[in-house]
Amino acid sequence: MSLNIAFDNSYARLPERFYARLDPTPVRAPALIRLNHALAQELGLDPEALARPEGVAMLSGNTPPPGSEPLAMAYAGHQFGGWVPQLGDGRAILLGEVVDRTGTRRDIQLKGAGPTPFSRMGDGRAALGPVLREYLVSEAMHRMGVRATRALAAVGSGEQVMRETALPGAILTRVARSHIRVGTFQFFAARQDRDALQALCDHAIARHYPEADGPLGLLDAVVGAQARLIAHWMAVGFVHGVMNTDNMSIAGETIDFGPCAFLDGYHPEKVFSSIDRHGRYAFNRQADVAMWNLAQLATSLLPLIAGADATEAEGEEAVARATEVIHTFPERFQDAWAGRFAAKLGIEDPTQDDVALIHSLLDVMTAANADFTNIFRALSGDAKAANLARPDEIEGFAAWQTRWHERLGGADALARAQEQMRDTNPAVIPRNHRIEAVIAAAVGGDMAPFGQLDDALARPFDPAPEHDWLRHAPAPEEEVRQTFC
Ligand code: AMP
Ligand code: MG
Ligand code: MG
Repeated sequence: MSLNIAFDNSYARLPERFYARLDPTPVRAPALIRLNHALAQELGLDPEALARPEGVAMLSGNTPPPGSEPLAMAYAGHQFGGWVPQLGDGRAILLGEVVDRTGTRRDIQLKGAGPTPFSRMGDGRAALGPVLREYLVSEAMHRMGVRATRALAAVGSGEQVMRETALPGAILTRVARSHIRVGTFQFFAARQDRDALQALCDHAIARHYPEADGPLGLLDAVVGAQARLIAHWMAVGFVHGVMNTDNMSIAGETIDFGPCAFLDGYHPEKVFSSIDRHGRYAFNRQADVAMWNLAQLATSLLPLIAGADATEAEGEEAVARATEVIHTFPERFQDAWAGRFAAKLGIEDPTQDDVALIHSLLDVMTAANADFTNIFRALSGDAKAANLARPDEIEGFAAWQTRWHERLGGADALARAQEQMRDTNPAVIPRNHRIEAVIAAAVGGDMAPFGQLDDALARPFDPAPEHDWLRHAPAPEEEVRQTFC
């Protein structure tokens, strides 16, 4: 095999005002840091060819491959609630799309590939640390079963980028079902570009929700996908950190791993991001924010829902129908949330009593600042996790556990439940302090810890992970209280 890539670039066939066509800006000394062989194969690409100099030249943006049609996508968005009419790919360049081995269309995008017409004040580049963080966390999320964009490769640029200090630069090859965001719809809606909205809506339906009937059907499908996604985030203790409308994917994948973090000690109001000063994107606010973002999508779709040359009455009717769809979000989220958390306790089809049981456990954990991952793993019958989390020392835990055992109904039922729970509650997650240690080593020139961590994260439900250090909650001096993008 060789580097021949069977691109089929449907986004590049959309009207020219959807993007700016341009090549990545070459970098001085591209060097492969890591290549995701399994993902390459999934995409029908040859990993050996990708690892050779001509492959690295492609992954760095130095030589766009034949058949690629590089472009930066236009989009807008609400950032922390404030409207920004033009954002767009300021440092990401879409090389093109391939149809993978399962028949799914996937974007191949270079992040950190140089300035674009959407860069505003930015340099178009990415620093090594954030590239490694996105690689580790997006892949870990995928392996835990959470829908997420993927990382095909990380390549060092051999150049420095200026942040607070000079840092080594890198490029991430990101793979996504698409990079269409809520903000992409907002971009055209704000310009009252009805034709573009219609084309984008048709494209998104054909690509992601072929069963959806028109703009209202698309809205309904995205609402459902996001309700399930946010519930899944919460079930693994994930805080996205920057849920702006431009960071919400229409395909329902987790996208943009900037200041994201995983809960260590449990508290529902945890905030990590240094730029989230008011806790807008706190752990337990993520569902409300998703609904707010989806309401912006609904607003953008109104002209299509109402139809061309709509009368005032038809306009009002469209608002009512879109509102009705948005108002299904809380219940759909609650159902998905209850299903996920019940499964964490070995319970199927949870009742209201089961939901109350889940909440009492979370209350006990909050009061004790108990380690989210290790507690659920301990409940799954993982002795090592129990040893680390020491639930028996937590106030109110024993009484709660008695209730839970009674609910499951006997020792056999508990054993069966725990077997299933060990496939639901991860033992190993990309803990914030481990990621920080990996980044510090990498910036200092030592890439080995990054590879070790990525290897160790490959089997999140492994009962006996080779790297037991991954299970340890941070010591107080290691704890990451704030994250930066
Ligand atoms: P984010 O906060 O990562 O979602 O990015 C918000 C916007 O800023 C997007 O339009 C990005 O493309 C843009 N952006 C972020 N970093 C850079 C950079 N270094 N150079 C140019 N644009 C950037
Ligand atoms: Mg973004
Ligand atoms: Mg970002």
